Amino acid sequence: MEKSPKNYDVLIIGAGPAGANAAISYKNLNPNLTVALVDKAIFPRDKSCGDAIGPGVISALKRFNNEHILDGEPQVVSTTLYGPDNIGIQNYIPEVKNKEDSIVYVIPRVDLDNRILDLAKDCGVDVYEGYSFVDFTSNLDKSLNVQIKNENENLEFLTKILVGADGANSRIRKKLNYKSNSDWHKAIAIRAYIDSPNYLEIFNERTLMFEINVSADKGYAWAFPSKGNLLNIGIGVPVSIFKKDKLDINVLLDNFVSELESRGVIVENIRKQKSYLLPFASSRPKRNKDLNIALIGDASSMINPMSGEGIFYGMEAGYLLAKNTHEIIHSSKLSDGIHLYEKEFSKRFRKHYLSCALARLILQSPFMTKRLLRVASNDQDTIDFVVELLFDEAYLTLKEVFKIAYKFIIPTKLLVLSSKN
Ligand SMILES: Cc1cc2nc3c(=O)[nH]c(=O)nc-3n(C[C@H](O)[C@H](O)[C@H](O)COP(=O)(O)OP(=O)(O)OC[C@H]3O[C@@H](n4cnc5c(N)ncnc54)[C@H](O)[C@@H]3O)c2cc1C
Repeated sequence: MEKSPKNYDVLIIGAGPAGANAAISYKNLNPNLTVALVDKAIFPRDKSCGDAIGPGVISALKRFNNEHILDGEPQVVSTTLYGPDNIGIQNYIPEVKNKEDSIVYVIPRVDLDNRILDLAKDCGVDVYEGYSFVDFTSNLDKSLNVQIKNENENLEFLTKILVGADGANSRIRKKLNYKSNSDWHKAIAIRAYIDSPNYLEIFNERTLMFEINVSADKGYAWAFPSKGNLLNIGIGVPVSIFKKDKLDINVLLDNFVSELESRGVIVENIRKQKSYLLPFASSRPKRNKDLNIALIGDASSMINPMSGEGIFYGMEAGYLLAKNTHEIIHSSKLSDGIHLYEKEFSKRFRKHYLSCALARLILQSPFMTKRLLRVASNDQDTIDFVVELLFDEAYLTLKEVFKIAYKFIIPTKLLVLSSKN
C-alpha cells in the first residue's frame, strides 16, 4: 500500500536565512500552522559568503526577540573603501534612517545559519536535514504534492504553500521555468578565511575593508574582521566580465592577497576557499499566479547589486511572505496573499535596488570610482549616502542625483570649500 503524504500548511525548501526566517515568522504570527523546512545539507553547514550582517538583519531578529543569538559578537565600527591609485577613505558607520541599530557583525555562516535554524526548531518547525527537493505537482484545489529524497528514502508531502528558499541555483525556480539571471545581472565571487594577527593594528580599528577596481578590473574585494584574528576575505566580478576576460577566480584571490600584503596585512593560513554565484536584484523573476509557490532570497534574485548583501533581503522577504499569507493559508485567497507579498517587497526595495544598480554601473569605471572616492573624502554627505546604500535602504531622489552630479563635476578645491561652509 502506498504511504499517504504528510500534511503541512507551509513547506519551505532551503533552510538558509531566508527559509529559516520565513519559518520563524509563520510560527510567530500563527502558532497553529504546521511548518516544515527541508534542506539538502546537514547543519551546521558552510556557505560561501562575506559573513557581514548589518542593521537590517539585527532588526529582522529583533522583530521576534531573537537578537540574543548575536550576544558576545564583536562589533565592526567603520568602513574603509579603496579605489584605483590607492585612494582610500575610512568612515564610521553612520546612523541609518530606517533601523534602530547602526551595527555590523561578521559571523561565519556556518555558525550564523545554524543559530537561526535553531530558532526555527525552537518554535516548533519540523526540519528535514539531508533531504533534497525533487519535484512538485499542483492539484485542482491548488494544494501541492512535493517529493524530497535522501540516500535511503523518498518522502512525499502535501502542502498549501510551497516556498522556494533554495538559493542562487534554485531547483524550484528551474522547475517553474523562470529565467535565471543573465550574466550581466549576476556575479561570481570567492571567499576564503585567513588569520591576520595585525589587521586591526593596520586599520586602527575593527573596519570592513572594501576595494573597488583594484585587484580585479570591474571587481570588488573585501576583508572583513570576525572574532580574534579571523578574517573573511574575498573577491567578485560580474559573470559577464568573468567569461569575456576568461578569468580564473583563484588567481583573482591571489591578486587580492598580494594587495593586502602590500598594505602590510599579515596573511596566514589561507583556507576554505569557496566560490559561488550572486544573482542581483537588478533582474527579478515574475511569478506564475496559477501556483501557490513563492520564491524568497537568492532563489528570487534579491541580492543588492552594489554591495553583494543578500542575507537581510532574504530574511525580510521571508517575513513579508508570512505576514501577507499566514491568515489565509486555508483560504482560496492564498494566491492573492502571495501577490501582496511580492508587491510589498517590490514597493519597499525597488528604488533602493535601482539606485544600487546605478551605483554599481558608476563603480565599474575606474575613473568614476576615483572621482567618487575623491568627492566622498571631501564631503561627509556623499560618504554617508554611499554607506547607507550599503547598509540601509537609501535610494536616489532626483534632487540627490543633481546634488551628486554637481559634486562630481565641480573641481575638488571648490568642493572642499563648499563642504567647509
Ligand atoms: C562570496 C559571497 C559573499 C557574500 N557576502 C555577503 C555578505 O557579506 N553579506 C550578505 O548579507 N550577503 C552576502 N552574500 C549573499 C548571501 O550569501 C546570500 O544572499 C544569502 O545566503 C541568501 O540566503 P538564502 O537563504 O536565500 O540562500 P542560501 O543561504 O544559499 O540557502 C539556501 C539553502 O537551500 C539549500 N538547498 C539548495 N538546493 C536545495 C535542494 N534542491 N533541496 C533542498 N535544499 C536545497 C542549501 O543547502 C542552502 O542551505 C554573499 C554571497 C557570496 C557568494
